[in-house]
Amino acid sequence: MDKKRLLTGDRPTGKLHLGHYVGSIANRVRLQDQYDCFFIIADLHMLTTKNAREDIDAIRTNAVEMVIDYLSCGIDPAKSTIYLQSAVRAVYEINLIFEMLVSVPRLSRLPSLKDMARAADLTEMPFGLLGYPVLQAADIITPRAHLVPVGKDNEAHVEITRELARRFNFLYGETLPVPDVMIGDVPTLVGTDGKGKMSKSLGNAILLSDDSRTVRKKVHGMYTDPKRISANIPGTIEGNPVFIYHEVFNPDKVEVEDLKNRYRRGEVGDVEVKDKLTIAINNFLDPIREKRAAIEADRGFPEQVLYEGTVAASQIADETAMMMKKAMGLTGVWNKISRKGRDRMKKLEQITK
Ligand code: ATP
Ligand code: MG
Repeated sequence: MDKKRLLTGDRPTGKLHLGHYVGSIANRVRLQDQYDCFFIIADLHMLTTKNAREDIDAIRTNAVEMVIDYLSCGIDPAKSTIYLQSAVRAVYEINLIFEMLVSVPRLSRLPSLKDMARAADLTEMPFGLLGYPVLQAADIITPRAHLVPVGKDNEAHVEITRELARRFNFLYGETLPVPDVMIGDVPTLVGTDGKGKMSKSLGNAILLSDDSRTVRKKVHGMYTDPKRISANIPGTIEGNPVFIYHEVFNPDKVEVEDLKNRYRRGEVGDVEVKDKLTIAINNFLDPIREKRAAIEADRGFPEQVLYEGTVAASQIADETAMMMKKAMGLTGVWNKISRKGRDRMKKLEQITK
């Protein structure tokens, strides 16, 4: 039997960070033998908030970097299809069909879209940004995916996909799978500033491609309990990003417990806590760095991977769009008109010959 399919992806707005890893990439790597995997580089989604010419010009470099990030994390290009969204024509078609099946109030209620508009300094909601989850549904349905591993911020969007697939099936007959969402072990990783989620656009990220010195610098600049102006003041662990990262990235649980206890009692300096975190994160990133060095030695490879993936995804996407149009009866309309029209043209040609 064919394997079930999985789809997820990222916007090519910059390099990937620890939040991507724990929110989604860890699941991708873990599931790649079990599922037929599709990873989309969602450049059309980038256009919903960033569409200046220079942003578009940056897509190629960012997309290549992203492929390198994926492969460095252990995503095997032989087992997965990595593709560029804007080059897959059927995505635009499926998106338009889905736009007819959801209401404006349903989309307007999603807090994530307002957050995105605010983060991008947009005073009014663009039509395209309101349609962000609809376009995501088009992506997920492109390979007719069954599973979508994403971070918590995307959970409500996948729910829209489920509603759209059900609505489509209800109106036109069982055609599309209703995909399940899978949230990562860390649903939302906080940023180094402790303010909100780690995000490539907010300057609060530790990148998977950061070298060990950069990691040290970023960790030592991290937000921590502000009331601790000296090491002997008891500190708060809860919600403290330094300890959140220790929990996630430091496998030495005894060390983490010891640091926590001493921190609570005011018996450890921030420098020691952060030094140990630096070591833990660097240990975590070392195997990724090692793979990256091997991949970067062959600069042409990521583009080949992206090319082959995009060709393969386009074929499947065309198939899906055709299935949907057939179910809707849209292909029938055109087939009949074109047959009649062609017949008439032929007749006219014969008369005027
Ligand atoms: P941008 O700042 O451009 O929105 P981003 O860093 O939020 O970028 P996306 O491309 O929007 O990244 O997200 C890609 C995937 O990674 C999504 O599945 C998202 O849920 C997940 N993800 C992103 N940031 C985090 C995070 N801090 N914690 C957990 N998951 C995350
Ligand atoms: Mg985002």
